[in-house]
Amino acid sequence: MIVASMEHSEYNFKRCKLCKELSAEPTYHLTDSTIYCCRKCDFHFLNRLDWPASPPDKTIKLDHKRRTYIESRLDENAYLHLNRLKCVQHHLNLSGCQALDIGAGLGQFQRLLEAQGAEAIGIEPSMIRRDYTLEAFGITLHPELVDADYWQKGFHRYFDLITLWDVIEHVDFPRETLAAASKLLKPGGMLFLDTPSREVLSYRLSQWCYQLFPGKVGLFLPSFYSTARYGHKQIFTRQQLTELFKSVDLQIIFSARSYTGKPFSSSKIILAGRKIEPA
Ligand SMILES: [Zn+2]
Repeated sequence: MIVASMEHSEYNFKRCKLCKELSAEPTYHLTDSTIYCCRKCDFHFLNRLDWPASPPDKTIKLDHKRRTYIESRLDENAYLHLNRLKCVQHHLNLSGCQALDIGAGLGQFQRLLEAQGAEAIGIEPSMIRRDYTLEAFGITLHPELVDADYWQKGFHRYFDLITLWDVIEHVDFPRETLAAASKLLKPGGMLFLDTPSREVLSYRLSQWCYQLFPGKVGLFLPSFYSTARYGHKQIFTRQQLTELFKSVDLQIIFSARSYTGKPFSSSKIILAGRKIEPA
């Protein structure tokens, strides 16, 4: 995320992105990157940022090949989005609701919200996805990130609902992103998100193996992170994300591991918070 006061190109990864202390150490060395772990709050994050972003490449067009690729993947999260919708509806009447979907993809969730009577808008940083969504569905997604003046000055305390599905693990600075999103909620408004959990066997097993054979066996660790643009940069524990919600004036109203109710069917953290007035 773009925070004007920070020179991200010179970001010191020893400063934990969660607790902000100079307590993070390079701990797990992957082929092309390093996972830093905070000695104070145990946050794990990759030494990569998307920002400063190179300017959008105007030569990348929504051509036949890209359109075909997008269409082949259009329905892959359809069932998941329906489960997310049910989860939101359990807590909120969507009719007439002002909603913002951050990381809107191809506007799939936005269309589900609109079908339930909500007035929804979406943020999507990828130009190709925005172009496709406009062409295929007539929906204009916004390129401005949530901490931009466009939102912070124009939509302060505006929304009843904000959603970030599989987004918080991708952003440069999750604390700043959630704080910016929280400011756009009306008092009593709700924020829902889901993200992969670090508290799964494959992650723990990978840590043990790395400690037994330092630098040799990363096992599944590389599959949790990605150096690609908009790739996974941090993986949370439930406790860390719960504390983060509280610190940005979001009172936890729902916490789960899966949408189906089967405790072992998912490795997700699903959280919802209600905006409270700062004390
Ligand atoms: Zn920390």
